[in-house]
Amino acid sequence: MSAKGTSLSERQIEVLLAISELSTKAHRNNLRVSQGQEASAYRDLAQEYKRTKVKLESVAEEARKLDEERESLERELGSYEFQLRTSRDRLDHSSGTDYRSLPALRAEIAALEGKVSQYTEEEIGVIDQLETVTQQREALEADLKRQLQEALAAKEALETLRRDISVVDETLQADLAGLKIHLDPEVAALLERVPAQVIDKVAHVVEQACSGCRLRISSILLDQIKRFPSDAHYCEECGRLLLPNGPQAG
Ligand SMILES: [Zn+2]
Repeated sequence: MSAKGTSLSERQIEVLLAISELSTKAHRNNLRVSQGQEASAYRDLAQEYKRTKVKLESVAEEARKLDEERESLERELGSYEFQLRTSRDRLDHSSGTDYRSLPALRAEIAALEGKVSQYTEEEIGVIDQLETVTQQREALEADLKRQLQEALAAKEALETLRRDISVVDETLQADLAGLKIHLDPEVAALLERVPAQVIDKVAHVVEQACSGCRLRISSILLDQIKRFPSDAHYCEECGRLLLPNGPQAG
């Protein structure tokens, strides 16, 4: 690919190189904000916080269920205790009762005593579980509080970096705009043809390869560059503008 007829002056090449350098610097700065260690530290801490929050919610749910179970056991225990008291009262005041019904009453009391001790044991078991879950919950709450503070501090650090970089970027963008004024319209048009995703728009031919993408340049293009050394040519692989007679040209 070549743009025959558009030859580049030394001055235009200088401006193109300066533009490419500043664009690369600005791009690196932006990457530093979005992918630098501050950004990844914040992402990691925020994820850790979310994970702990989910864990805490499930432990809190477990505690809620255990508490419900305890309440239900307590109600049933209360009911058996009441029945037991009533039956014992009947036994205590059994003088007028038919003596034949006494063994049944005693059996009933024994059964109720069994229920009371069974439900008491069950309730104690649930209370023990609740204590363990409550300890887990308190530990998770402490973790969550610490992780929130760490995440907020990391966010603050990222915001500070973003602000600092944005100040630097403003200067870079102003310098870039200033440089672009010195670009001839036809040279600016050449730059427009370089794919948008390529940040450093210009490259040199170094040892028969493009200094931008480091891929070999075809013999046809090398021949054209040799025949029209002051014309603008584009790398067939990455689309960068290949500058003639650059400082690294070879
Ligand atoms: Zn290339």
